Amino acid sequence: MQILVTGGAGFIGGHLAQRFAADSHDVVVLDNRDPFYDLDIKQHNIEAGRDAARNSDGSYEFIEGDVRDAELVTELVADADYVYHQAAQAGVRPSVKSPRKYDEVNVDGTLNLLDACRDEGIERFVMASSSSVYGKPQYLPYDEQHPTTPVSPYGASKLAAERYACAYSEVYDLPAVALRYFTVYGPRMRPNMAISNFVSRCHNGEPPVIYGDGTQTRDFTYIEDVIDANMTLLHEDAADGQAINIGSTDNIEIKTLATEIRDQIDPDLDLVYEERHDADAEHTHAATERAEELLGYDPDHTIREGVAKFIDWYRDNRDWYEPLVRQS
Ligand code: NAD
Repeated sequence: MQILVTGGAGFIGGHLAQRFAADSHDVVVLDNRDPFYDLDIKQHNIEAGRDAARNSDGSYEFIEGDVRDAELVTELVADADYVYHQAAQAGVRPSVKSPRKYDEVNVDGTLNLLDACRDEGIERFVMASSSSVYGKPQYLPYDEQHPTTPVSPYGASKLAAERYACAYSEVYDLPAVALRYFTVYGPRMRPNMAISNFVSRCHNGEPPVIYGDGTQTRDFTYIEDVIDANMTLLHEDAADGQAINIGSTDNIEIKTLATEIRDQIDPDLDLVYEERHDADAEHTHAATERAEELLGYDPDHTIREGVAKFIDWYRDNRDWYEPLVRQS
């Protein structure tokens, strides 16, 4: 069975490609190695996929290319049974500076894939969506019926992309599912995220920096739980045509998270507070009943367990990963 993973040199796509290869599937990764963050991490993701294939009956092929290239996308989808679309221009704050690029990659790129998937009649199209589609909460936790009023160009682009996926499912019978991820973390995570920054600063005897008063809340979701949810969609068709929250059951305030990390690494450090960024959501919190019902979703990691695993990984990979966090 061949699986096309777009964005497979990135954080989530890299773990997905690795798991598929380890499970003896034939994996093709399409990624343009966008320089949004340091390319060393992407190389580690690619190597992890190759290693997994070497140790299994699977295979792994990396193709450097762009989801905006409709011809290439059509060619790759023609050989695929499943498409896991993780490629995106990510990041809420930078989307405020260059919204059009987010539209071109996240919306037009997704449409290229959807057109090809419809024409080739693939088994399933699974795409990464985001909690950013919800915008300001009218109530929490967000369930999937919550109004979608994104407050950033990034959120707007993810919403447009997932609406297209669900519309293609309705109109063309394309089996398509959008998973709305809630702040994913774990080994090889993007270096510019709160958890990697807190861990890095604490390891260097520097206080973690919190933007705002730290009462913002998040559902930090451990990468392995996100991968498990994606794996289910290889055989589960009950979710076709739907957008589904994938979060943790362990909602936490940012200052509590920083305290937790500080206490695990260097309890003598203080916390430092700086000005909050307007595009950042105040609270995100997922209702995961739909995921439980349709995918049997049952995340294994509490925030304490996930953070402890990440800190272990960080210590083992500090030589190459830490400089990337420091410069991000
Ligand atoms: P990432 O930036 O690590 O991975 C995205 C990958 O897509 C990168 O390797 C990048 O090179 C590639 N890419 C970018 N533009 C491309 C293009 N035009 N053509 C081909 N490849 C391209 O991000 P991530 O954290 O792994 O996120 C993966 C997906 O999950 C994205 O769709 C993102 O919007 C979504 N998501 C992530 C989170 C999170 O917390 N990490 C939360 C919600 C949603």
